[in-house]
Amino acid sequence: MIPFLDLKAINARYKDEIKARIDGVLDSGWYLLGEQNRKFESNFAAYCGTRYCIGCANGLDALRLIIKAYGFGKGDEIIAPANTYIASILAITDNGCSPVLVEPDLDTYNINPDLIEAKITDKTKAILVVHLYGQAVKMDKIWALAKKYNLKIIEDSAQAHGAYYNDKRVGSLGDASGFSFYPGKNLGALGDGGAVTTNDEELAQKIRALANYGSHKKYENIYQGLNSRLDEIQAAVLDVKLKYLDSDNAKRKEIAQYYLQNIKNPLISLPQTYSENSHVWHLFVVRVKDRARFQNYLNDNGIQTIIHYPIPPHKQECYKELTHLSFKITEQIHSEIISIPISPVMSDNEIQKVVEVVNEFK
Ligand SMILES: *Cc1c(COP(=O)(O)O)cnc(C)c1O
Repeated sequence: MIPFLDLKAINARYKDEIKARIDGVLDSGWYLLGEQNRKFESNFAAYCGTRYCIGCANGLDALRLIIKAYGFGKGDEIIAPANTYIASILAITDNGCSPVLVEPDLDTYNINPDLIEAKITDKTKAILVVHLYGQAVKMDKIWALAKKYNLKIIEDSAQAHGAYYNDKRVGSLGDASGFSFYPGKNLGALGDGGAVTTNDEELAQKIRALANYGSHKKYENIYQGLNSRLDEIQAAVLDVKLKYLDSDNAKRKEIAQYYLQNIKNPLISLPQTYSENSHVWHLFVVRVKDRARFQNYLNDNGIQTIIHYPIPPHKQECYKELTHLSFKITEQIHSEIISIPISPVMSDNEIQKVVEVVNEFK
C-alpha cells in the first residue's frame, strides 16, 4: 500500500537531531515559555518575513487569539471562504463573530477575490483568507479592499508554510497570520503546536499575554486570557524541522510537477497554480465526478487517499444557522475532490505507480 502520508518516515530522517534537542529540554528542567520557544519564534518570524512570532498550542488557537486580540465579537462580521477546514470558521464563531462566507474559485480552490466586495457591510471587521491545500491566495484585490473599507486581513496559513505570493511569504501577507504545526502539516510537530506571525508590535504583545492567561507578569492579569502555549519540546522539534522545510517543500513541488505533467485522464481534473512559488503542495487535490468509485479503485490498487473535506462548514450539524445557505461551487468541490498521496518521502517508484494507476481509471 502506498500510504497517504508516512509520518514515521518523514520524522525518521531527522531522528538523531530531534532526539538530541529533546534530551536538551529534558535536562534543562524548563518546559514552557523558555529558550526553545524564543529560538523557534525568532527563526520562524525570520522565515516568514515578519517582525514577530508567538508560539501557541495549535492552529485553531492561533486564529482564535488573533480575533480575540483585535477585540472582535458579537455583532461583528468576518468574511471567510465557504470552502475551508472547519477550524477557520470555528475561530470566528468562538469569538461570537458571524462568518460571512464567500465562494472559492473552482480551479485554485481558494476564495474568489472578485466575490468579496459584495459581502462587505458596515459590520465587517476583517477578511480571513485561507491558503488552502498549500497555495497562497491572490492578495492584490484583497489588499485593495482592506484598504478601501478599513478591514483587517487575517491569514489562515495552517496548510501553506513557505508558500509565496509574489516575493512575500504567507504569514506576512496580512495583518496577522495563524499557523498550525499539527503533525501532518508541511511543518509538523510531534503533537500539537501553533503560532501567530505579525508585524504589529502591540498586537504581538497582546497575543502573548492572551495566550498566557491574559498576563505579562505572573499573577497580574490584564485580559481574560486563555492557556495556549507551545511547549518547549515541540518548539525544539519544530526548530530542527524548520531548517528542512524548504527542501521538503521543493520535493513536494517536484512530485506535483510530475503529476501535473503525467496524469492524463479525461475523468480527472487537476489543480491549477498561478505561479511557480505560490504552492507548497500540502495536498494534491483532484476532482472526479465518480469519486466513490475512483477512491475504491485506488484502494484496490494499493493507493491510500483522503477527502479534504467531505462536508463544507455551512452543511455541518454544528452550524444549523448556516445550513439554509447554498454555495454551489463549494458544494461541487466537496462532492468531487479527493487527495492523492504527496509527501517529501515518496519514492520515484511510488510516484510513478500513482500516475499509472490514475491514468488507467476508466
Ligand atoms: C489544520 C488546520 C487548522 C487548525 O490547526 P490545528 O493545529 O489542528 O488546530 C486551521 N485551518 C486549516 C486550514 C487547517 O488545515
